Amino acid sequence: MSVRTPGAPAPGAARARATRTKGPESRRPGTAAAFATLTPARREALRADCARLAELDDTDFGIRLLGNTPTHETRDEALLHHWATKATEFGRELAAGAPPAAAGHGTRVVETAGGLDRFLLARYTSRPVPTVELFTDTIALGEHLVDVLGWRDLYPTGALRSAALAHEHAHCLLHRDPRTRRALRDRLGHTALRLGRLRVPGHVAGADELAAHAYAGALCGLGRSPLLLTAALVSAVQALGED
Ligand SMILES: [Zn+2]
Repeated sequence: MSVRTPGAPAPGAARARATRTKGPESRRPGTAAAFATLTPARREALRADCARLAELDDTDFGIRLLGNTPTHETRDEALLHHWATKATEFGRELAAGAPPAAAGHGTRVVETAGGLDRFLLARYTSRPVPTVELFTDTIALGEHLVDVLGWRDLYPTGALRSAALAHEHAHCLLHRDPRTRRALRDRLGHTALRLGRLRVPGHVAGADELAAHAYAGALCGLGRSPLLLTAALVSAVQALGED
C-alpha cells in the first residue's frame, strides 16, 4: 500500500531526505514528533491542503490514481471514471464476501521501519513465503495526522494498520486466485485487441490497486477511502520537510 499514487511525484521526498541529514532526531520530517515543530502557519496550510483534498470525492481519487498510472496518461477521463467505478465496486463486493477474519488472513506479518523513505505503508511479497510488511513509521505518522486534521470520525484509532493489512490481503487474493483476477478483468471490460469476432480482454494497470483500496475501506468500515488519507500523508511529509 503506497502513500503515493503510481507514477505521481513525491513532492516532499527530496527535500525531506535533505533535511533529514541535517536535523536532530526530533526534527526529522515524517516522524510524529515533528508535527509539534511545525510553525502555526505551516500547520494551518497543511490543514487547508487536506481540507481541499477532503472535498474531492472518492471516485476523483480513483480517477487520479488511474490517470497517474503509466499507459493511462492520454486516456479519456470518462473511461478512467468508468474503470475507477468498476474497480471500486469490485473491491467492495470482494470485502462483502470475505470471511470475518479476512484482515488477519493467516499470511505472515512483519513490522518494520523505513516506510517513509519509500512512501510505503505496507507491502505484500509472495516469495519465499506470502508476507505482508507493515511500515510502522508511516502508520504512526498517519495516525498522528488523523488527530492533527480532526479526522477521527473517518479513520478510527488503529484503522490505518487494519486498512494496510486488508489492502495487502486484497493483493494477495488477486495474486493467488486466477478466478478473482479474471472476475476483476471481466468487470472492467477492457478490450486489448479485437480480431473479427474474437475479443482479447486487456489488463487495466492500477485497477487492482483501486480494488485493494476499496476492499480495505469496506472491510474496515472507514468513513472515506484510504486514498484520501494517503494523499493527506503526502501533503504532511511535504510540510514536515519544508518547515
Ligand atoms: Zn496496493
